[in-house]
Amino acid sequence: MAARIALLPDSVIDQIAAGEVIERPASVLRELLDNALDAQSDRIVIDIEGGGIESIVVLDNGHGIAAEDATKALLRHATSKIRDLQDLQALRSRGFRGEALASISAVSRFSMTTRAADATSAVQVRSEGSQQPDVSPTAGQPGTRVEVRDLFYNVPARRKFLKSAPTETAHINKALMRAALSRPDVRFEIRRAGTRRKLYTPSDSLGRAKQVLGTDSLTDITTERASGIYVRAHLSSPQESRSGASNLHLMVNGRPVLDGALARSVAFAYGSVLPPGRFPVGVVFVDLDPSTVDINVHPQKLEVRFSDARLVHETLTRQLARALGTEPWSQVQQTSQTYAQSYPSSRSHSVSHGTANRAVREPTMQRTDAWASLSLLRDATSAYGSAPSPEHSERTTGPFASLTPIAQLRSLFILCEGEQGLYIIDQHAADERIRYAKLHTQFENQSIQTQRLLFPAQVEVGEQALAWLESHPESLRSLGIDADRISETEIVVRALPALVAKGDPATLVEQALGELQRDADRAWSDVLETTLATMACHAALRRGDRISLRECSALLAQLDATESFKEHCPHGRPVVFMISFADLEKKLGR
Ligand code: ADP
Ligand code: MG
Repeated sequence: MAARIALLPDSVIDQIAAGEVIERPASVLRELLDNALDAQSDRIVIDIEGGGIESIVVLDNGHGIAAEDATKALLRHATSKIRDLQDLQALRSRGFRGEALASISAVSRFSMTTRAADATSAVQVRSEGSQQPDVSPTAGQPGTRVEVRDLFYNVPARRKFLKSAPTETAHINKALMRAALSRPDVRFEIRRAGTRRKLYTPSDSLGRAKQVLGTDSLTDITTERASGIYVRAHLSSPQESRSGASNLHLMVNGRPVLDGALARSVAFAYGSVLPPGRFPVGVVFVDLDPSTVDINVHPQKLEVRFSDARLVHETLTRQLARALGTEPWSQVQQTSQTYAQSYPSSRSHSVSHGTANRAVREPTMQRTDAWASLSLLRDATSAYGSAPSPEHSERTTGPFASLTPIAQLRSLFILCEGEQGLYIIDQHAADERIRYAKLHTQFENQSIQTQRLLFPAQVEVGEQALAWLESHPESLRSLGIDADRISETEIVVRALPALVAKGDPATLVEQALGELQRDADRAWSDVLETTLATMACHAALRRGDRISLRECSALLAQLDATESFKEHCPHGRPVVFMISFADLEKKLGR
């Protein structure tokens, strides 16, 4: 018999809808801060207890709510910010759906005291769950104070999914940071039981970024408007980069957003000095015509959609790269001045056809790039006749293969003679880079070649890692690791990616698992990329590995074959250093 259809009661509808908007305490805080900022406040006080699960209070000095509207504010789809859909096209406010207070009050013990600027007294609205709110006059300053207690007290399922207070606190901190970074002109005071009061005084955006991110060394970037897009940023050097983009804060038209592609566009601007999966610390403001951004795509308004995303990404990368190009850290050792001057045209040599993830590169090539010595070499090789021909193997054609290995130094460096100078190659960095690039390509094509282990390896990974693996069943397999659980704490590893199968399988799997589980805030694609990099590092030649000159030549040929090769290994260390003969002669007084 078919089940009968019935309309859900309002209280259930409210709770279901609330679930979309309010996922955790940090979502409450974000909505309350949005409202305070929309009310033109310039002083906001925030009080948090028990990771925001116990209570969140936000007090502002904004324009308040008229007494007769105060209960209306709690209704779903009640807003003062838009009147019709057109208004979304030129929206200046953060809110627009009129859902936040309705959602929050449906899943908490809620109270709001508000006084409009022109009113003589305040009014208090209290509500518990889906009950009718109580309204009563009360004393209060102009502005609004919202108190949210016992979040999800009436939604046990959701409450169960909340993490521990420290985890929720971490999310709350992120929400606070984003709000504070987005509005440096507003004073934020943050109080939290058991910790010192934190105060962000009004400042310019650079000053605020330094305060919030706790670093003094941020590059201040302003750019010219280009393609209708205006970019400002305060960014760290690559040395201070982090894996994952959770410390890179993005604002689109003043609105904090989470956008992996936008974050990657920022990372691209650093060029080869920033390995895949790593992101600078900082804040980036992107301003563009509001009619080219759809802000109505995410229940928590955390994501936006651009009508021409590619244009936005490319402009962002180009503008930032231009500005970053003058930073001292981007001027890496280029000892071969004479060499560079004799081939000025090769500066424009495009290397932008690397793998997709590091593709936008022209801007960084316009400056004296660390890579220049080799791209010059590449030009020189083809200019002097040994143009690549299909029947020649890469061994005789590429810029690296044109070098003659002379010696291995301290079981770490490969010394090579080239036409223009002495090249010193870091064998670990080079080998790691080669393995990473190959592994990455295979991974992207979902065709990682695996190698079965002669003796399956039993690896003790611990209960926590096993629990993690249960909830991410395909993660290891997608990386080419074939493993199964055999006890409460152990797995057995049967196969590994062929490219990294050398070395101890237990260490490899432990490291990969460690990387996979680290920093849950990162985008999954970043997690996988850093894991691949870790695996490549594990299998690469190390300091102390003796290799023959023949093996050196093979390594050089592989470098040429590594399409995405830039002169840095995945962990960011340079791979090659060149001393020109001209310099050498000068140094030795010839
Ligand atoms: P939205 O922000 O999308 O309009 P909300 O549910 O967050 O929806 O808030 C509903 C309405 O309540 C807002 O449109 C605004 O008029 C009013 N409001 C909420 N918080 C405040 C505040 N702190 N100060 C002034 N008005 C507020
Ligand atoms: Mg709102």
